[in-house]
Amino acid sequence: MDQSIGVRFWAKVNCAGPRKPHMVTNCWEWQGCTNKDGYGRFRVAAGKLDRAHGLTLSWVLGYRPAYVMHLCDNPACVRPSHLKESTHSLNMRDAYAKGRRPECIPQGTDSVHSRFTAEQIVDMRSKYSEGETQASIASFYSTSQAHISQIVRRKTYRNIQ
Ligand SMILES: [Zn+2]
Repeated sequence: MDQSIGVRFWAKVNCAGPRKPHMVTNCWEWQGCTNKDGYGRFRVAAGKLDRAHGLTLSWVLGYRPAYVMHLCDNPACVRPSHLKESTHSLNMRDAYAKGRRPECIPQGTDSVHSRFTAEQIVDMRSKYSEGETQASIASFYSTSQAHISQIVRRKTYRNIQ
């Protein structure tokens, strides 16, 4: 980790956060800006925001997990021991089990929820078929890798060839 990033990062963390009843240790709560779901956002480089909890876990693991689960159910928490590498399906199962609804997946570019044009969908799929990773395409389009995975595997936007 770049030292200046570490200094900037930990300055925004309250290491005396609340302790959830089912946890034995207290949360380290992110004090910086958060997205609408309460996840901490941290500027890793000019114009590039990343999820704060994804960063702390990746610093501990030495690689970036595709999905990160909060054992403490506190989205603002960045304490590595409260985080667990997960998979998309585990995260979804966890969200259902805890009564949270995962985000709806757009069904086509004519949907009111649609974020992408047909041209962008075609571009994503051609990038992917040329060997670009889902994570890299997701970063380019400022969306999640899960979303790109749905698109390139034609689980969504099926009406676009
Ligand atoms: Zn926590």
